[in-house]
Amino acid sequence: MLDNLGELRRTHSCGALRDEQVGQSVTLMGWVARRRDFGPLTFFDLRDRDGITQVVFNEETAREAHAKAKDVRGEYVIAVTGEVVRRDESQRNAKIATGGVEVQAREILILNDARTPPFQIEVASSDGLASEDLRLKYRYLDLRRPQLQANLRLRHRAVAEIRRYMDEQGFTEIETPILIKSTPEGARDYVVPSRTFPGKFYALPQSPQLFKQLCMIAGLDKYYQIAHCFRDEDLRADRQPEFTQLDVEMSFATTEQIYTLIEGLFARVFKLIGVELQTPFPRLSYAEAVGRYGSDKPDLRFGMELQDLAPALEGTPFPPFASALESGGQVKGIVVKGGANLSRKSLDELQEHAKRYGAGALAWVKLGDELSSSLLKALGEDAVRRGAETAGAGGGDAVLIIAGKPKTVAASLGALRNEVARRDKLIPEKTYAPLWVTEFPMFEFNDEDGRYYPMHHPFTSPLDEDLPLFERAVEGGETELLRGMRAKAYDAVMNGSEIGGGSIRIHRRDVQRLVFKALGMTEEKARERFGFFLDALEYGTPPHGGIAFGIERLVMLLAGTENIRDVMAFPKTASAADLMIDAPGAIDPQQLDELHIGIAKQ
Ligand code: ASP
Repeated sequence: MLDNLGELRRTHSCGALRDEQVGQSVTLMGWVARRRDFGPLTFFDLRDRDGITQVVFNEETAREAHAKAKDVRGEYVIAVTGEVVRRDESQRNAKIATGGVEVQAREILILNDARTPPFQIEVASSDGLASEDLRLKYRYLDLRRPQLQANLRLRHRAVAEIRRYMDEQGFTEIETPILIKSTPEGARDYVVPSRTFPGKFYALPQSPQLFKQLCMIAGLDKYYQIAHCFRDEDLRADRQPEFTQLDVEMSFATTEQIYTLIEGLFARVFKLIGVELQTPFPRLSYAEAVGRYGSDKPDLRFGMELQDLAPALEGTPFPPFASALESGGQVKGIVVKGGANLSRKSLDELQEHAKRYGAGALAWVKLGDELSSSLLKALGEDAVRRGAETAGAGGGDAVLIIAGKPKTVAASLGALRNEVARRDKLIPEKTYAPLWVTEFPMFEFNDEDGRYYPMHHPFTSPLDEDLPLFERAVEGGETELLRGMRAKAYDAVMNGSEIGGGSIRIHRRDVQRLVFKALGMTEEKARERFGFFLDALEYGTPPHGGIAFGIERLVMLLAGTENIRDVMAFPKTASAADLMIDAPGAIDPQQLDELHIGIAKQ
C-alpha cells in the first residue's frame, strides 16, 4: 500500500514555486495539510518547512493519480510529480507565497500514512489553537505549525548572526561543563547525584559565571558561549527551567567597551527583522529608572513618567500622605491623558492592579468639566488642583496617585503605568526601545531575615568611588552604608523586559573578601563554596567584565511573541514538566541503589 521513495528527489520545496516555474515539471514532497474533494478534482495543500503549495488531481488528465489521492488523509506524507500551472486570476491566493500557481499532479507516491492528529494543526488564528498542554504532549505535531517553524528558523538565524559577530570581534567560543558545583546566581540548583562519590552531588550551572571568569584568569581574553543554563525557580510566563544564554566575558574591559560590543551585536541581530536600532542606547541609572518609571526595566516606548507630588503636599494633614512623607516615603502620580472619562469600574480595576504590587490604596483626580477626585473631601479643591498641576495634568486628564514606601510606590505605580498603557493602547507596535540601566545597588536588604544579598552576584565590583564607603561599612561596622553602595552592574532592557545583564567583576582578593564579609559569609563558608575560585584570584587576575543575554527573550522580541515556549523546540510547562517525554519520571530501584539514594516516604 505504501510506496518507496526509491531514488526520487525533490526539485523544489513547498514554498518555492512562483510564476517563473510555470510549465516546468516538478517533484514536491511534504505533508498533506488540507484536502478538498470536488469529485473529478481533488485539491491538496502540501506543506513542508518552507511553505504550502496547492496540488490538483484531475480525474480527466491523471486518472490513476486522482484515484490514489482519494485514499490520502491529513498529515500523510506524499511525493507528487506534475506540472506547474498558473492559477486563474480569480483563484490566486495572495495569502501564501506560492498562491499564484498550482501543481497539476501526474503521479503521487504515498510515502507514509498518519493517524488522525489529536488536534487541528493549522488554524486561522491563535484563538483556534488546541490547549497548550495537549500541544506540548504532541509537540512534534505542534511544531509542524508554520509559525513555530518560522520562529525556530529565526532563532537559528539570530544565533548564527551572534556567532559570526562575536567571531569578527575576536571572541573565542569555549564550552564549559554542565556537571559542576553550585553557581552564584541566587536561584535553586538542579542537582545530579554522583555514583562514584556516594552521597555527593553535582549541580547544573545556573550560568557559567565562575568558569568564564576562570577563562579570564587563564588568559583566554575574550570568551563567549551559547550556554545552556538551569535554574530551579518558580516559573513565570517568560521563564523556563532550562534556557540558553549568550554568555560573554572579556579581559581589561571597561563598561563602555561592553556597551559598544553589545550595541553592535543588537544592531546586527535586529537587522534580521529589518529593524535599524539606534546606537548608542540611552542610559539610565538604576535610581533614575526606578524614580521616573517605577521599574528597573522601564518600557521606553511610551512616556507617562512618575511625578513627585510631595512639593504640592507639603504640610498636608491628610494622614496617609502625611505619614508617608514624614517617614521617608513618597507620594507620586501618573497622568493619564484623556483619563477624565475613566469610569468608576476602570478605577476600581486599576486600584486592584496596584494593590497586587503592594499599594494600600489608589487616589485619583479627574480634570473633567468638573473636578472630581477621591481626595476632594480630605484635601479640598485647591490642594487637589495644585497636586494635579504639579503632576503636569491638563483639562480632560486624570492623575492616579499612590503613597507609601519608595519601593511600594515604584512597584505599584510602575505596574499601573504599564497597565494604563496597555489598556489605552499607548504602546506602538513594532517599535524597539533599548536602554542600559546602570549603577545598580550592590546589595539588597531582605527585611525577612535581616540580611544583605547581592543584587547581581557576589563577584560584581563596586563602583571605584564607593570603595572607601564599602571599607567603612564592612570593617568599620557602619553596616547601614551598604544600602547606598553602587555596583558596576548593568542590565540591557528592551520594551519593558530585561534581556541581559552583567557587570565588571572583582579582580582583587581584598575586595572579594569584603563582599563575602558584607554578605555575612564566613571565610570557611566562602572557601567551601568557592575555594577553587578564591585560590585562582590570587594568581594574577586581570580586570575583567562581561554580560549574558537570554537567547529566548531576544528571539521573543524578534518574533513578536510573549510566550517563551513559542521560541523553543521542546519546552516545559510552568511546573517544569515535559509532557511529551513524561519527565521528570521515576527511575529503577537498581539505579537508585547505584546512586546510594533512598526515596523518603511521601
Ligand atoms: N552570570 C550572569 C547571569 O547569568 C551574567 C553575568 O554577570 O555575566 O545572569
